[in-house]
Amino acid sequence: MKILIASDLHYRLKQFDWLASQANHCDAIIIAGDMLDISSSMDLSVQIVVMKKYLRKISETTPLLVCSGNHDGNEKNDADEYIAPWLQEARDQQVHVDGDNVFFGSTLITIFPWWDGDVTKMEVSEQFRHASQLEFDKWIWIYHAPPDNSPTSWVGKRFIGDSELNEWIKQYQPDIVVTGHIHESPFKTDGSWADKMGKTWVFNAGSHIGDIPAHIILDLEAMNAEWYSLAGSDSRQLA
Ligand SMILES: [Zn+2]
Repeated sequence: MKILIASDLHYRLKQFDWLASQANHCDAIIIAGDMLDISSSMDLSVQIVVMKKYLRKISETTPLLVCSGNHDGNEKNDADEYIAPWLQEARDQQVHVDGDNVFFGSTLITIFPWWDGDVTKMEVSEQFRHASQLEFDKWIWIYHAPPDNSPTSWVGKRFIGDSELNEWIKQYQPDIVVTGHIHESPFKTDGSWADKMGKTWVFNAGSHIGDIPAHIILDLEAMNAEWYSLAGSDSRQLA
């Protein structure tokens, strides 16, 4: 099984076009958050209409798994925390979103939403607990922010990672965590697109301009990951 992984496309439609063009060449596509761009002059509601069409289009040929990022919140809950109900509306036969557990054979992929405060964090914590009780051989997480103290969250002078994720990784020891959020980590000295924490591989493909997004091809049979970007390519043998 080959999975194409990208994140933080931030409404660069050419990059979404490219993902759609690759759907024939892989068994699933993951977008690890930040489909939208809250700093754009284009209204978020307009971006959402367009993005729903793109998600549907990409998923016509291959399953698509998408988590929300900090740019994807379009409403707030009662605790004043951003949430992404539009992504729930985008759920479809082949579009899997926040909260979903998706099985490919005995590999479980769990999709976590961006959490913006205590209430949404508790929901994510409960989602970990629930998913951990399912039966699987391999467990892959899709989670927007990379862990702290990892080259995948290195910005050149310090780490900007999610320390809660470090604790969840320690507790549940998944096989692979697919992240994004820190665009520059793979391109900085001492940063990286890949890290190993205990038995867990962590990936952050990074984000850049151009028609082709920085991306990773994860081959679960060969247990190999290849990274491609404007700054060059790299690979890791995972087993
Ligand atoms: Zn981003």
